[in-house]
Amino acid sequence: MDIAVIGSNMVDLIAYINRMPAEGETIEAPDFKMGCGGKGANQAIAAAKLGAEVLMLTRVGNDIFADNTIENFRQNGIDTRYIFKSDASSGVAPIFVDPESRNSIIIVKGANKLLSPADIETAAEDIKKCKLIVLQLEIPTETVYAAVKFGEKHGIPVLLNPAPAQPDLVLEHVKSCEFIVPNETELSLLTGMPVDNEDDIRNAAAALHQAGVKNVIVTLGSKGALWLNQNGEEQMFPSHKVNARDTTGAGDAFIGCFSHVYVKTGDIAQAIKTANFYAGDSVTRLGTQSSYHDRAEFVADYP
Ligand code: ADP
Repeated sequence: MDIAVIGSNMVDLIAYINRMPAEGETIEAPDFKMGCGGKGANQAIAAAKLGAEVLMLTRVGNDIFADNTIENFRQNGIDTRYIFKSDASSGVAPIFVDPESRNSIIIVKGANKLLSPADIETAAEDIKKCKLIVLQLEIPTETVYAAVKFGEKHGIPVLLNPAPAQPDLVLEHVKSCEFIVPNETELSLLTGMPVDNEDDIRNAAAALHQAGVKNVIVTLGSKGALWLNQNGEEQMFPSHKVNARDTTGAGDAFIGCFSHVYVKTGDIAQAIKTANFYAGDSVTRLGTQSSYHDRAEFVADYP
């Protein structure tokens, strides 16, 4: 087993509307799509599509969305033994998108809120066989802290993507991570520092490093990514110039690909370069998981 993703899954319920409804109004939407999402699931799927062996620890509800989610993991070759069912709704995200691509999103975390430190213990023997633990913040914070501790105790490197930005995350509890991979907003919230220009971003990344985080990798959208390594040395990785159509899930594509290349090669610089290309390529297509290329498509495109 290569990677254990301990995180969320959601089902996106996307209604394509002509305009936002007013309060109390019922309108008809000309089109509807359902898609699998959630940051944990997206990152697991990206890594698995590229050929990583991925174990997913997550919770689904007791409803039709659960079966759909489990089947999606299975079809992508993910180990589903630790996808637990709860007496709750599955995580769902009703989304409204208007013709100008403006959107309103409601997140119902549902069963994701029930993923517990005890669930990590249930899967402990198999998580211990993994080379990397990958975490995000759509599950309870205490479970994130327990996973960080688990990695520390068993000598497994942990990658934390502190997304979505959580004001209550305590840096002290996650500073032992081998990698923290925030975008600019998340970096600012995690450090309490501004990120208005390149110097600000460098200073905030340096603060995380000084707190004890070995590698800080800041994703910078169309600008690429900045790596501050364990010696405090910086390296900038520019993104690829692409015709961006839909950037949803770009951060998850980056992390899934980075994790895959890192566990296969141990080469962090190569993992960032490849992830920049993979995530940049994904924004040229619509959708989240559906915009992630598999190994064959990726090998064909990679320069
Ligand atoms: P998030 O989606 O978490 O906010 P970013 O916007 O920083 O994350 O994007 C993650 C990565 O996706 C970037 O580091 C880059 O590799 C790639 N990316 C995102 N937007 C673009 C773009 N417009 N052009 C090229 N690459 C992009």
